[in-house]
Amino acid sequence: MVVSGRAGPRDASAAPGGPSRRTPPAFVELYEEIADCPRCELARTRSHTVPGAGPAPAEVMCIGEAPGQREDELGLPFVGASGRFLDQLLAVAGLARDTVYIANVVKCRPPDNRDPALEEIAACAPFLDRQIAAVDPRVIVTLGRFSMARWFPGEAISRIHGRAKRADGRLIVPMYHPAAALRNGGLRPVIEADFAQLPQLLEHARAGAATSAPAAITHAAPPAAPTTSTTPAGERLL
Ligand code: SF4
Repeated sequence: MVVSGRAGPRDASAAPGGPSRRTPPAFVELYEEIADCPRCELARTRSHTVPGAGPAPAEVMCIGEAPGQREDELGLPFVGASGRFLDQLLAVAGLARDTVYIANVVKCRPPDNRDPALEEIAACAPFLDRQIAAVDPRVIVTLGRFSMARWFPGEAISRIHGRAKRADGRLIVPMYHPAAALRNGGLRPVIEADFAQLPQLLEHARAGAATSAPAAITHAAPPAAPTTSTTPAGERLL
């Protein structure tokens, strides 16, 4: 049975970051393992792990960067202003959040919202591998440059956002992180236009017609990418 992992009121008996009644059965053991993970330095400073949320399997999986302050407090991904904007973006694509699986490349908050280190991303990668395998999405949306780098190493997000490629039998679509648009309002129409392409890409993936990279999505040149920063709420920006 698919169980929704939508961010919302948590079971009174569930610890933040650990499995709850909403956790898909495939993830109960994994979430427990993540909650006890000591594999990198971030284990020393986290309040709670943020394994992910949503159903498994799911057709669409979004992969962000790292938990922010609010996520670290609640053990849930994308629960602040970025999360509300992500909900709006998913609505643009006709998707409800509780139909989408959402995770980050690292499951613990970097101190002071610094960028996750390469060794931290590498240490956490086996968890993300297992999540992708269990969710088995047709389409993976990478949010921001750190998740993008897994499939598009060396690329610039300003150049390839919204352009899907085929990898491991899935469509991978790089997009800006929602927090970027909160920092730079000029990115808002860009990220909305990219999300508006999702239904078409999902149909493409369902049809299995994408044996090679689909045509690049055309869109207006984006404004200059913002520099790394954080919102007043302590959320990560690119
Ligand atoms: S970020 Fe990942 S690898 Fe590092 S301690 Fe947290 S769960 Fe473990």
